[in-house]
Amino acid sequence: MSQYGQVQVKNNRYKFRGDFHRLEQHMPIRDADNGWKLVGVTKPRDMTYVHSYGGEAVFFESLSQGKLLATKCENPDCEANGSVFQPFRIYCPDCLSKCAVVDMTERAEKTAQIHTYMVCTRSGAFNVLDKPIRFINVEFENVSTILFSYLLVGEPVIGMRVRPVFKVFNPTYTILDLSWVPADTPAESLPEGFAF
Ligand SMILES: [Zn+2]
Repeated sequence: MSQYGQVQVKNNRYKFRGDFHRLEQHMPIRDADNGWKLVGVTKPRDMTYVHSYGGEAVFFESLSQGKLLATKCENPDCEANGSVFQPFRIYCPDCLSKCAVVDMTERAEKTAQIHTYMVCTRSGAFNVLDKPIRFINVEFENVSTILFSYLLVGEPVIGMRVRPVFKVFNPTYTILDLSWVPADTPAESLPEGFAF
């Protein structure tokens, strides 16, 4: 039994352990209407993709701790000085200087609302969200950008006040660890694994 690939950083280098490419037994494709003649094979295979977060790593780490981080341009010479970005931008798009990291959890709890939404009944490969997926665009007071995310509980309405929830139990360390619920949702009705 092979082991899925795992990665650590040690001495500032990736250290790889296990298998990153796995092949399974090929299976014949046969023609049921033609004496079960061989017409091809299936080739099951999977790979483990190594996705580096770079400067965004702190954002994903914080989701697992129930915090929503944003960034802010603090360059006094920038026209967009003071702009807060959610989603998290490492560099200011106006002046290209490195942004400061700010905790906007409280601002999200107090001011987040649904800007617009769409409900999707079909998804692409590897989707892990329950369908239909209620995709929402979330806006915040004094934030220059709008965040694309998904509503975990309830039905979306434009202008609805929502608050963030975080998958702090068994986090995936991806953007799926952040979701939203109507602002008046009691903690007891959050799905398993999620907390305010
Ligand atoms: Zn700037």
